[in-house]
Amino acid sequence: MPQNPENIQDHVELFHQPEYQQLFENKKQFENGHSAEEVARVAEWTKGWDYREKNFAREALTVNPAKGCQPLGAIFAAVGFEGTLPFVQGSQGCVAYFRTHLTRHYKEPFSGVSSSMTEDAAVFGGLQNMIDGLANSYQLYKPKMIAVCTTCMAEVIGDDLQAFINTSKSSGSVPQEFPVPYAHTPSFVGSHITGYDNMMKGILSNLTAGHKKETSNGKINFIPGFDTYVGNNREIKRICEMMGIDYTILADNSDYLDSPNTGEFDMYPGGTKLEDAADSINGKATIALQAHSTAKTREYIEKEWKQPTVVSRPWGIKGTDEFLMKLSELTGKAIPKELEIERGRAVDAMTDSHSWLHGKRFAIYGDPDLVYSVVGFMLEMGAEPVHILVHNSNEIFDKELKELLASYANGNSATLWAGKDLWHMRSGMCLLSG
Ligand code: SF4
Repeated sequence: MPQNPENIQDHVELFHQPEYQQLFENKKQFENGHSAEEVARVAEWTKGWDYREKNFAREALTVNPAKGCQPLGAIFAAVGFEGTLPFVQGSQGCVAYFRTHLTRHYKEPFSGVSSSMTEDAAVFGGLQNMIDGLANSYQLYKPKMIAVCTTCMAEVIGDDLQAFINTSKSSGSVPQEFPVPYAHTPSFVGSHITGYDNMMKGILSNLTAGHKKETSNGKINFIPGFDTYVGNNREIKRICEMMGIDYTILADNSDYLDSPNTGEFDMYPGGTKLEDAADSINGKATIALQAHSTAKTREYIEKEWKQPTVVSRPWGIKGTDEFLMKLSELTGKAIPKELEIERGRAVDAMTDSHSWLHGKRFAIYGDPDLVYSVVGFMLEMGAEPVHILVHNSNEIFDKELKELLASYANGNSATLWAGKDLWHMRSGMCLLSG
């Protein structure tokens, strides 16, 4: 075989090697495959208008979704808290997928456990898996908190997490006072950003229970949302320290997902201290850096904590200006000269590189908040969005994106493809480049 340790080939090159090509040819005979000419003809047809119309008329099938499932977002939120072990009630294969996904993306070990439900649990329910799983996790991995969410399997059979956790505690799996927040994260509803929101709300309601005081602690809480670039958390901390603002990030997964290599394994690097998270109920205000991954959490904070919340996305010049001014207004702290100078440098860099992006047509896909922010920045740079695809879209996002596009002359030629997948994107791109 052509693969050897001296010259490891990626799958694309590897599958073009003669051995694989021969294997595919042999396989075709059993599959009654079509001729190479016919395959080429159909491939060409899928790039035209005729196929595009059929593709966009598709309703009952998703091909290559541009979103993940709820538990993925839930465990991403959980590891932002100090000493927290994500625990997924459900099947092991799902959890292997979440762990692999996050480990491969960040090139860091991602520790999350599963209650490994199999056929018997599917019939009788997963209570025993929860009792054993919590006990093993507590004894083996010595976390400070275990955050529980679910896969489709546990949701379909209707596992009741609150009742299961109570029973597990009564059975001695973990001490009564040990925090085990939870979130039901059915993957047939919403996406990874819904799971993030559900878990954040679940953890905050568990940790803050009974901690409400008469007076505010004067701190500003920040909820980053499902932002995969953890350097943004570090930037928020830097800005707050420059401005002399006392803050809590709910929750800071930057050290967990981007930890230093010290030669020693730390299962729970960094994270927001549990006592700080518990005290966040007494904060002055909460700023969410994303809207659509924090909707339920913000509603909970406003209703239950009686705390004001604001959504501010510090992207591009406009977004960052609004963020800093809001921060200054909430805290009474002045925006330091140093940040003004950095802003000037950013404007200078944008002006210098403007000619490379001005008038360039682009297509983009992603989560609602990310897409909103990147499109806003590209519009500031004079670029022209053509296809904007957001699989996990919603009506509020559709409206706000359309308003953003309408506020720039270069936003007029964009089409928002809400709820569409990456196979739809392909049809759009074929015709964009054609
Ligand atoms: S969609 Fe459901 S079955 Fe699939 S990985 Fe997610 S939780 Fe598991």
